[in-house]
Amino acid sequence: MSVLIYIDHADNQVKKSSLEALSYGSDLAKQLGTEADALILGTVEDDLALLGKYGVRNVYQVSNPQLNQLDAQVFTAVIADAISKTGADTIVFSGNATGKAVAPRLSARLKAGLVTGAVALPDTANGFTVKKTVFSGKAFAFVQLLSPIKIISVNPNSYSVKEGSGSAEISSLDITVPAPKVKVTATNKVSGSVPLGEAEIVVSGGRGLKGPENWGMIEELAGLLGAATACSRPVADSHWRPHHEHVGQTGLAIAPNLYIAVGISGAIQHLAGVNRSKVIVVINKDPEAPFFKQADYGIVGDAFEVMPKVIDAVKKLKGK
Ligand SMILES: Cc1cc2nc3c(=O)[nH]c(=O)nc-3n(C[C@H](O)[C@H](O)[C@H](O)COP(=O)(O)OP(=O)(O)OC[C@H]3O[C@@H](n4cnc5c(N)ncnc54)[C@H](O)[C@@H]3O)c2cc1C
Repeated sequence: MSVLIYIDHADNQVKKSSLEALSYGSDLAKQLGTEADALILGTVEDDLALLGKYGVRNVYQVSNPQLNQLDAQVFTAVIADAISKTGADTIVFSGNATGKAVAPRLSARLKAGLVTGAVALPDTANGFTVKKTVFSGKAFAFVQLLSPIKIISVNPNSYSVKEGSGSAEISSLDITVPAPKVKVTATNKVSGSVPLGEAEIVVSGGRGLKGPENWGMIEELAGLLGAATACSRPVADSHWRPHHEHVGQTGLAIAPNLYIAVGISGAIQHLAGVNRSKVIVVINKDPEAPFFKQADYGIVGDAFEVMPKVIDAVKKLKGK
């Protein structure tokens, strides 16, 4: 019996969302009176022993380079094998793209109960009941896992990374990697910007910005704050911004520490993707804009007058 946390990586580095999953899994193991281990597929440059700082005892690695690119079917087979080799009975994923692709397949393969979108540690005193978000974050459900093997995927940005000290043992797992059934022929990567799903701060623009030529101020503020840029759906639909920036019910759901919405009305479908943000700042010229009801801070004003002032203030604060 142990907790096994799946570690996701990109560009040779462990993803922040995996550090959250590690902290969650390690705390869960403590709660269950068992040990936490990590599993990583493929190769990374990061020193994996350092993952011990997040409370894991072993890092199991299947370092076949075929596993550097996500193939959900292959990953599912390899992780299922790793679970049987390590004897883990509780598996934790981050609910990021990899977790969304692999956890349900693993659940079907192992006939294991799965909770996606977990936002808190399970209540293990009363069965094994996990709190999760439902209806695009508008409500919570409490789901009891009854199967011997349990799988949980944790919503990104809903569990704090807890860093202590310690070093993990690295061991290689000897697992035969199955031949892929699909072949990736090209990958178009967005480079030079903070990945939206992982960003701590997001500066987002809506139709109130009138056109793509006015995104300079969104990008400038994002650059100063080390933030990612995002947009509302009509902005992406009008090709003012790329589709991967679209947040909301039909776009990416994010939960940054700070979400700055500029010229966005705050329609329910937009809020569905951003309402888990810790702090929301809204800049809108219409005091009746629905977004103000969700905002922690609001500025009623014309974005074209307010944004240059905000940018100047941030520059002053940062000494630029
Ligand atoms: C099934 C379905 C799914 C959807 N999914 C999504 C989704 O995932 N994400 C999403 O975003 N939308 C989604 N939508 C669309 C959603 O309903 C809204 O139409 C959309 O979010 C509105 O985008 P907006 O706020 O940028 O534009 P608008 O509604 O046009 O609002 C523009 C805002 O800018 C303000 N403004 C105008 N000029 C200025 C200025 N100079 N300075 C400051 N403020 C100004 C206005 O007061 C207004 O509040 C979906 C709709 C449907 C039906």
